[in-house]
Amino acid sequence: MTTFQGKNVLITGCATGIGRLMAQKAAARGAKVIMWDINMAGLEELSDQLERWGHRAAAYQQCDLSDREEIQDTARRVLAEQGPVDILINNAGIVSGKPLLELSDEAIERTFDINTLALFWTTRCFLPGMVQKGAGHIVTIASAGGLIGVPKMTDYSASKFAAVGFDESLRVELHRLGHRHIRTTVVCPYFISTGMFKGVKTRFPFLLPIMEPDEVASKIVGAVEKNQARLIMPPFVLALYPTRLLPTGLFDKVVTFFGINHTMDEFKGRGG
Ligand code: NAD
Repeated sequence: MTTFQGKNVLITGCATGIGRLMAQKAAARGAKVIMWDINMAGLEELSDQLERWGHRAAAYQQCDLSDREEIQDTARRVLAEQGPVDILINNAGIVSGKPLLELSDEAIERTFDINTLALFWTTRCFLPGMVQKGAGHIVTIASAGGLIGVPKMTDYSASKFAAVGFDESLRVELHRLGHRHIRTTVVCPYFISTGMFKGVKTRFPFLLPIMEPDEVASKIVGAVEKNQARLIMPPFVLALYPTRLLPTGLFDKVVTFFGINHTMDEFKGRGG
């Protein structure tokens, strides 16, 4: 079991969405929550809310996860002021939602900076403290888009496939190096109604529902508490795994039949 009580829990991208809900749930479990986001107004509002509810954020800091030096500077401040981080939840993420040739070079780079490279920078800042303590937990919020690629998601899917690979490699590396009490959890959700993927459609909602943010946040916190290494939701996403063994033409037909290749047809996202 990983307990939240009394632990330093750092969550990236928690001004809105599931990050915000995970911060609330961690604080309610007695964690000292350190909140990072680019959106300072959102962090201030969340901090006030936690205080009204009788919890207190240990710290909240504006940090642009696309900027390696800013991550490293902000991490140094956390380590100096709060001490080592026990549970790191890499949650911040962005999506462009455009076909490859309509993406700007900058948008592609930004997606990889935030969704992929930031995982390296935050983890490299806080893992040494976990190694020294002999315990810790690193959570990677990836996506079902990190298991299956669909139209209008070349940058997003590639960045999340990389996130899944980052987690898997790190998990076995930590084990191999003897750090058995430093756990990892990778999370691959299908769509969640936070607004990030506004406009997406699902063909068979009973198999592949657009999930409620609170339910997703609760499941992630529960998975961390149980030291669950992998959380894929809803379960039907896991059932699609074996279809990878099919020839690609057939695999594409199966995925299209379930509507997955059309989910992004009317995507608007936070901009729409
Ligand atoms: P959201 O847009 O509500 O929250 C993302 C947060 O990240 C925001 O608070 C935003 O300000 C922050 N952020 C964005 N760019 C940042 C930057 N440069 N520096 C610091 N913070 C930054 O989205 P969400 O739906 O809560 O998504 C959270 C995570 O879950 C993301 O990694 C996302 O890819 C993943 N996910 C979401 C869905 C979905 O359907 N919403 C599905 C699968 C996976």
